[in-house]
Amino acid sequence: MDSASFAAGAFKQLGLKVFERGWLSSNNILFAPSRRAPATVVDTGYVSHAEQTLALLASALGPVGLERVINTHLHSDHVGGNSKTQAQWNCETLVPEASLDPARRWDESRLSYVDTGQRCPRFRVDSALAAGKSIVLADYPWQAWSAPGHDPDALLLFQADSGVMLSGDALWEQRLAIIFPALEGEEAAFGEALAALDLVEQLAPKIVIPGHGRVFTDVAGAVKSSRERLHHFLRHPERHLDYAERALLMFNMLEHGQRRQQDLVEWLSATPVFQRILARRGLASDAATSNALRVIDSLAAGGQLHREDEWVMLSGRLR
Ligand SMILES: [Zn+2]
Repeated sequence: MDSASFAAGAFKQLGLKVFERGWLSSNNILFAPSRRAPATVVDTGYVSHAEQTLALLASALGPVGLERVINTHLHSDHVGGNSKTQAQWNCETLVPEASLDPARRWDESRLSYVDTGQRCPRFRVDSALAAGKSIVLADYPWQAWSAPGHDPDALLLFQADSGVMLSGDALWEQRLAIIFPALEGEEAAFGEALAALDLVEQLAPKIVIPGHGRVFTDVAGAVKSSRERLHHFLRHPERHLDYAERALLMFNMLEHGQRRQQDLVEWLSATPVFQRILARRGLASDAATSNALRVIDSLAAGGQLHREDEWVMLSGRLR
């Protein structure tokens, strides 16, 4: 059996459906309602795609509607549809236990939205999902595990009988998510990300549904390439800063599609996470403009962006 039909069979049995979205919005994993559990989605994408997320969920669920949202972590691209799903269906919303308090208080200094210059409408938080706890989705128990590194509060979910894992942003097939605490100088977070990969290896999933990108079964290959990236960043933390700048700028361009270079440079110069990266490089704030232009240049050289007159645009294949 090929891996796609193997996964399809497992997902049918587990009552789950994967909506693969992209890099601006996280994937959404929908669990059908059962006698044991309400209709539940894991992660809701970015706010600018919220209408589309709602339409996908509504067409899959029909009149039942969505009853519960669970978030693997609270980054804007995973919770951006929470507010709209609550308005539509008044669904219960669960977040990782460590994020419960800041999310309830909407503590901007703990939540990442102001820091990254990303948008996220406030949503209601009903309760927490704690690492070590099990939760029934459709008809099967899923165990929550702590998976820090990319985000200190993040959880992954694992269904032991079937070997299916929802890895959030702790493991992707090819790329590695930004290790956000390292941008604040907490380089121990690289070690935490490595430990999260060790955990994945111990759990030995057969199928991984990542937070972004397609479902995959070559878990050993994905763990290996993530480890190599992490070891590279441990040796060269400045490369991680470069990578984070490019990824955060691309996220903004995925949202906008095209921006005047002037606006993009101003946005980047005013956004705290970029200011912090600048400071970590030992550069003063008056280097912000030249630094912003350098990041745009490197993305243009790599073919992800191109310039037309005063505009910076996503390259065709990304639009
Ligand atoms: Zn994330």
